[in-house]
Amino acid sequence: MYDVAIIGLGAAGYTAAIYTARYKLSTLIVGEDEGGMGVTAAEVGNWPGAIDIKGPDLMESFKKHATNFDNVTRKQARVEKVSKGDKAYFQITYQNGETDEAKTLIFATGSDKRHLGVPGEDKLSGKGVTYCATCDAFFYKGKDVAVLGGGDSAVEGAAIAAQVANKVYLIHRRKEFRAEPFWVDEVKKKDNVEYVLERRVVEILGDDKVSGVKLDKEFNGSDTINVDGVFIEIGSIPSTSLAEMLGCKIDDRKHLKVGEDMQTSVKGVFAAGDVSSGSNYFAQFATAAGEGSVAANSVFNYLQGDGGSEGYLSEG
Ligand code: NAP
Repeated sequence: MYDVAIIGLGAAGYTAAIYTARYKLSTLIVGEDEGGMGVTAAEVGNWPGAIDIKGPDLMESFKKHATNFDNVTRKQARVEKVSKGDKAYFQITYQNGETDEAKTLIFATGSDKRHLGVPGEDKLSGKGVTYCATCDAFFYKGKDVAVLGGGDSAVEGAAIAAQVANKVYLIHRRKEFRAEPFWVDEVKKKDNVEYVLERRVVEILGDDKVSGVKLDKEFNGSDTINVDGVFIEIGSIPSTSLAEMLGCKIDDRKHLKVGEDMQTSVKGVFAAGDVSSGSNYFAQFATAAGEGSVAANSVFNYLQGDGGSEGYLSEG
């Protein structure tokens, strides 16, 4: 029986583990995808203390730090089910049927990339359609690609892809980008990026591999653009399914509802990082780490007998 089980091997989860370890709590940290969304960041320029670091390197350092403690057990496994019933502890069931038990939980399960939902997308997924421009751009050296979206992921992705691709079409449904001005400036410096604004992709074309995209309105006299790769970067959906098995409430934006102490609507269950409604939905390394540390502190207080924010959340 662990004092706390943290589900998720990303920035929020590892930070929580570092803190629970130092509170001397027996800690399990488990997840399927090592490093979470953090490994998809090609360049991290806003992690305090590191002027420029790559996401995979930053996440490796998080992991090393958290697993340096004797009271932290790390497992890489897919969690299929989380339950409590009328017991005083939570049970985690893995895909292979094995189980673990913990007195408290922290969901640091992050989010999954949003899909566009247009014809051709599923069929060509992995055959030119991908959901991480910064991870996959280097497979498209000298080719033409399209990046879809107008947030940080898309604009950063376009800037990174432009370093290797012949041409990048940045296709966004609005005139303005919502991305950080830093990335908007970076992409403007690239002369091989063409902006396709106020357009939506309505189909991804190709038989065995991507050959182009079809737009809802003509661009430069045609409603199709020929490309070899399509990077769909239109945001993500919080991974709440395990927490919902316990009855944790979600908010209008589909994040786990948490109080100021990161406790969900279920007693003894906390959340941190992209999956939570904390930090004003600002999904960053810094906010994930902040939420992870608050959740760990709250777990410590909870195990000492402080019930936390359950009253606050039980109202809605
Ligand atoms: P995001 O900020 O939610 O932006 C999603 C973009 O996709 C928006 O521009 C949105 O358009 C567009 N979009 C959504 N649904 C669409 C649809 N069905 N069809 C066409 N376009 C659609 O997502 P994100 O860029 O993945 O960023 C997620 C979080 O991670 C943010 O908090 C971001 O700050 C963070 N992040 C940060 C960095 C960094 O370098 N600091 C890097 C990556 C991600 P509208 O603008 O019209 O809504």
